[in-house]
Amino acid sequence: MLDKRRSHSDPNGMLDVPVAQRMPREIAPGVFWIGDCLAQRHKGKVYHGYNAAFLVAGEDASILVETGHPKDFPVIERHLAELFARGAPPLKYLFVTHQETPHCGGLGRILKAFPDALLVGDISDYHLAFPQYEQRMRAMREGDAIDLGGRSFMAVEPVIRDLRTTWWGFDTRERVLFPGDGFAYSHYHEDGHCGLVAEEAVSLDLPDVSSTFADLALFWTKFADMNVYCDRLDHLIARLGVTTIAPTHGLPITDVVATVPKVQAGLKAAALMPESGTNEKAAAS
Ligand SMILES: [Zn+2]
Ligand SMILES: [Zn+2]
Repeated sequence: MLDKRRSHSDPNGMLDVPVAQRMPREIAPGVFWIGDCLAQRHKGKVYHGYNAAFLVAGEDASILVETGHPKDFPVIERHLAELFARGAPPLKYLFVTHQETPHCGGLGRILKAFPDALLVGDISDYHLAFPQYEQRMRAMREGDAIDLGGRSFMAVEPVIRDLRTTWWGFDTRERVLFPGDGFAYSHYHEDGHCGLVAEEAVSLDLPDVSSTFADLALFWTKFADMNVYCDRLDHLIARLGVTTIAPTHGLPITDVVATVPKVQAGLKAAALMPESGTNEKAAAS
């Protein structure tokens, strides 16, 4: 007999799980979404954004993608402890997409807490802040891959990038893309979206929250032809065969074909609006 609570948009029954118990959440086999929301006020509304991190567990080693915002470190630490207690292999690698606080703000804490872990990906300048960890930094370029046992983590083209040094990541086994500031959008706390994937958050106006985030945090999208960027995104997704997208600020995307065009519509709309300017209300970027 069908469980009436499980609809097309809620095949996992996640809407019945209290928000506090949704994370860590396995968004693809061995890929865990961890971290917490950050409330932002904009035009009289409260928007929630994530500053998420992801643990990718191989057979021999785990890699942490992003570190979360410094305010979230107790949450990140608790979620990691929970995953390791459940059997995730030891943390051997940390990959951050770029040098901004919501992405790399816990870098020193992670390297201190996990003395066997190496920092991989872009490593520019981190040795200046953390000279004591310089010997644990390994640069990756596009196409470089790290073997975790049964799956690899690869550095891939950062189509939507905030900094010149940005890299995106890709899990070769489950075909999960980690796009940092790509697919950045808020969600509605009042509608219970925290801890849901994009397809479960049915009341979320994805084009609107995507364009708002781009307006506040990705100013360069005003001065670029976003059609070109969206075409390039389509090309990357097709070339890699991406099936899941794990953005740092947005909700994870589990139906690439249905959801990616909605986010792209937001990027294209934001590019045509005059810049509203960033101030103390600005979204994290
Ligand atoms: Zn939230
Ligand atoms: Zn960001």
